[in-house]
Amino acid sequence: MSDATAAPAPAARRPLMPLDDALARLMAQAQPLAGIEDCNTFDADGRVLARDLVAALTVPPADNSAMDGYAVRTADCAAPGTVLRVAQRIPAGSTGEPLAAGTAARIFTGAPIPPGADAVVMQEDTEALPEEGSLGRVRVTNLPQAGQWIRRAGEDVERGSVVLAAGQRLTPQALGLAASIGFASLPVRRRPRVAMLSTGDELVMPGTIAPEAMPPGAIYNSNRFFLRALLLRMGCEVQDLGLVPDRLEATIDGLRAAASQNDLIITTGGVSVGEEDHVKAAVQSLGTLEHWALAIKPGKPFAYGTIARPALEEGGRELCHVCGLPGNPVSSFMTFLLLVRPFLMGLLGTTQAVPDAVQMTAGFDWPRPDRRREFLRARIGADGRLALFSNQSSGVLTSTVWGDGVIDNPGGQAIAVGDTVRFIPFSAWLA
Ligand code: AMP
Ligand code: MG
Repeated sequence: MSDATAAPAPAARRPLMPLDDALARLMAQAQPLAGIEDCNTFDADGRVLARDLVAALTVPPADNSAMDGYAVRTADCAAPGTVLRVAQRIPAGSTGEPLAAGTAARIFTGAPIPPGADAVVMQEDTEALPEEGSLGRVRVTNLPQAGQWIRRAGEDVERGSVVLAAGQRLTPQALGLAASIGFASLPVRRRPRVAMLSTGDELVMPGTIAPEAMPPGAIYNSNRFFLRALLLRMGCEVQDLGLVPDRLEATIDGLRAAASQNDLIITTGGVSVGEEDHVKAAVQSLGTLEHWALAIKPGKPFAYGTIARPALEEGGRELCHVCGLPGNPVSSFMTFLLLVRPFLMGLLGTTQAVPDAVQMTAGFDWPRPDRRREFLRARIGADGRLALFSNQSSGVLTSTVWGDGVIDNPGGQAIAVGDTVRFIPFSAWLA
């Protein structure tokens, strides 16, 4: 640079990084972790499937009855009130004989349809005519349609098909589906190992000082609680390092130890412009750390870095990632959901990194939008419209509990009652 007198741009004017750019940069670093585990299907809720599950059988394996009733040939029941001889009885778990013309088979839900039958008449549409020494006869009071109350072989799962795909996060219903094709255990990605630590001399752990005895300027550490819970919900193993001591050497030692055992270290606080703390310097001395000013509100300051370490797994990467979240609780919460969660999803190799927004109607006016993309805490009203929490400050954690989710509002866009907005429910992020 020739003009040595030019002052550096003031920190506040740093160009803001669009969220999508930040996400793309993070995701480029989020290679799926090496290491696949075999997990009992009972215990696999929330885990990420590491391989496609291919069905080795057809479900249901054969045409079967959807009702308790009688298997018939519709050709035998052309007139209402037809009476048929009951020639056999087929409970679930057994197979019948071919159905002779002019006869019916007593059948129960789930039992295979006997060859020759083409419909099931539900019990309620029949009248049983018992006879001594035989299965008796049955009067069919309603005319059956061909195919009625028959569940077709393969209508759920075709043999050879991919029933659950690699990268899917397993839900309770997915465990049932996996079990229905015979999987007692499932190949899943190993859990990401995440260490977390807080910075800030003002922070006090609940339980150590009573509310009425809190010194001036002190606040309770709230971030640690929701971050830990968010990580556990995502299936991470969490190592909580607590508040790091206020000395550079101790911080470096703590970070080095955490990096050697974890895939990711999450810090909160101390990433604002101009702020100096030991975590920043310590990460920089062990690896790399970039500070980003994100074009979002809340959650402008964010840091991403890496610390070299031995690979945790054969074939794994020799890097521990570092995400530095802002200290303000709502900023910390939102940057976790918007950036750290997709990053962890990337480490897990899952395809469902970011929840979809849904179109909803605003029940409020927002006449003075920020130039940054805003994530406004809002609640779904009984009228189906969104209501806004009265205080959108990044320090007001109540907004995240009152709200059902956030409105993803583009920078500079005013909102008026009746406008369509994009809403992301917290339930989609917390799943
Ligand atoms: P910082 O990002 O360190 O400048 O912190 C911004 C604001 O968030 C300050 O008011 C901090 O007191 C507050 N803060 C930082 N860390 C936490 C935490 N772990 N829990 C609650 N508030 C915090
Ligand atoms: Mg601080």
